[in-house]
Amino acid sequence: VATQCCIAGDIGGSNVRVDLVADDFKIIEKLKEPSGGDPVSVLTRLIDKLRNDLPEGLSFRGAGLAVAAIVDKRSGAVLRAPNIPAISGLDLASEISDKFGFPVIVENDANAAAYGEKVAGAGRDFDSFVMLTLGTGVGGGIIIGGRLLPVAAELGHATINMSGGPLCGCGNPGCLESYAAARAILNNAASALEKNSDSLLKTLHNGNTYKLTAEDIYNSALEGDTLSRSLLREAGKSLGVGIANIINMLSPQAVILTGGLIGAWNIYVETAIAEASKRAIPELFERVKIIPSTLGDDAGAIGMAGLVFEKNKQPKTRKTDR
Ligand SMILES: [Zn+2]
Repeated sequence: VATQCCIAGDIGGSNVRVDLVADDFKIIEKLKEPSGGDPVSVLTRLIDKLRNDLPEGLSFRGAGLAVAAIVDKRSGAVLRAPNIPAISGLDLASEISDKFGFPVIVENDANAAAYGEKVAGAGRDFDSFVMLTLGTGVGGGIIIGGRLLPVAAELGHATINMSGGPLCGCGNPGCLESYAAARAILNNAASALEKNSDSLLKTLHNGNTYKLTAEDIYNSALEGDTLSRSLLREAGKSLGVGIANIINMLSPQAVILTGGLIGAWNIYVETAIAEASKRAIPELFERVKIIPSTLGDDAGAIGMAGLVFEKNKQPKTRKTDR
């Protein structure tokens, strides 16, 4: 039975989402709005709405905010947010905490999603796993010994091509996400179609290749489109290289995959698994399960809530330790 609740927020490149979550990890209420040019004021307004609507009988524990950014773990400041310039460099935890007078923690969104899968999703039965979020880019979160590792885990920016390759948003060429993520697949689709490749993709959106989505590519692949299939296989192969590196470095019990692209599991992910099996150390590969997330879009909110409730437990634990 739930006794506590908290607010779990998420600032992404396109949307701001704010949820009210109970300590049995049920989402009580969910609000979502476009980020616009000032995501912090959208966030503040949505938090204010939920705060005035708290259920009776649950004690309120503050807020946890997930951001698509590199975060200073100690202060909760946003160090770098390439896709959300408005929050880059902002001391987000203090800003929100000063405004509302309750404790606020800030975490990277993929880290939050990994912890969500640990407390209530596909990672519940594993002590160690790595989560990869496969969307526009590639994010990562690492669980070891049942806990979220307090590291950046920017696994999408692992270099998989040292002799060049497309330039990534982080400033380097050859990053995993420049090959394996949706943006990469769409860029490759656009340049293939410019070279006049024969493809179903040409018939979509009145031939405007800039309007293509990863879903278009997956659907065309299902209809047997050769270009779409090869784009997904090529991206999957790169993902497999990234997964092999993760397996060899961390020997996790599982690699959990989430994000829009896993809809293309039978082409994209199966290719990745085949590639990882060729490259990872066999004894380590045999022990790892490569599986989809079960929480989907809710993983981040549930993980953020888990971190807020966990933090509230800590002072008590320290006292009994002494
Ligand atoms: Zn990069």
